[in-house]
Amino acid sequence: MPTTDGVRYGADVKKKMEAVVLTAPMKFEIGQVETPAPGHGEVLVQVESTTICGTDIEIIKGTHVPRWPPRFPAILGHEWAGKIVAMGPGTEGFGLEMGDHVAGTSHAGCGACRMCLTGRYNLCLNYGKAVTGHRQYGHITQGSYAEYVVNNMRALHKMPKEMPFDVGSCVDPAGCGLWTAKRAGINPGDTVVVLGSGPIGVFAFESARALGAGRVIVVGGGKRLDTIAAQGAEVVNYREGGVPEKIKALTGGRMAGVVLETAGTTESFKWTVDCGGKGARIAITGIPENIPDLAWKRVVLEEMDISGVRANPNCGDEVVALIHAGRIKVQPYITHRFPLRQYKEAFDAFVGRKDGALLVNLRPGA
Ligand SMILES: [Zn+2]
Ligand SMILES: [Zn+2]
Repeated sequence: MPTTDGVRYGADVKKKMEAVVLTAPMKFEIGQVETPAPGHGEVLVQVESTTICGTDIEIIKGTHVPRWPPRFPAILGHEWAGKIVAMGPGTEGFGLEMGDHVAGTSHAGCGACRMCLTGRYNLCLNYGKAVTGHRQYGHITQGSYAEYVVNNMRALHKMPKEMPFDVGSCVDPAGCGLWTAKRAGINPGDTVVVLGSGPIGVFAFESARALGAGRVIVVGGGKRLDTIAAQGAEVVNYREGGVPEKIKALTGGRMAGVVLETAGTTESFKWTVDCGGKGARIAITGIPENIPDLAWKRVVLEEMDISGVRANPNCGDEVVALIHAGRIKVQPYITHRFPLRQYKEAFDAFVGRKDGALLVNLRPGA
């Protein structure tokens, strides 16, 4: 097993591990790489489940080079759950123990800058400066498409032992949905429109409902929309056209009090304001290639609030609790499971939305 001063090992850890290695845009190899060792404040986790994120696909395609990844080869993946198998120095006394089940999220801030100190570590002022302790797993730091991943304790969320790993694996995207709902602010009884029926749309719907929304109307398409409808969402199929008109009809002309944008298309970006009513609160997660003009006069005169959304700060423990209490559902949206070594099939299923693919989980070492 790999050795580093002050690291405690609680289980047999292999010297080499299976991993999906991105060697260039759209080129990944499934092979054996060196198992990493945890440093100060870090633990080594054996990954039991990892979920494909839409961002992974964009990173694989090369959309974000050279920001993500800053160099090749790279190991992606930031939605995962597993068991702690080794603990680095400086990890004692924080309530995490060897063998604990934990779920990961992608951002670990430096912990010392103004943004980190105010809880906004997703906006860390030392982004990308590894020497400060800043990490973003699966983006600029090794991710979870592997049998093991090193993570700072700050990016870990303890799971109850009875929570299945494939559910814990979705704590990160569920946190993104929750953060989107929180950024907009949901009041009891609000009428909420969620734009998009992908993984973040699903969890924005679940979160809005968990936070007390009266009605949640999801705008999306295909089999994914049927899956969400089966969980109790009102749905509008965008492919049939006339989205704002349909929202108008469904709300008796009042439009939505809250609009959560998760689709990232030019149309959905425009619908944020078009589907909002007076005083609407809007939160946006997606950035389309072509950003449309918004109905700015309405934004001003109808006092709409628009918030940007980045990842899921401080939402990990909250979604673990909500999932555990049954108030955010995950299982109905896990549509596919593959061994990690079948990454190509999993990638194709997710990208092609095969059989309404939503949450596609991978199991390393299977
Ligand atoms: Zn993600
Ligand atoms: Zn910071």
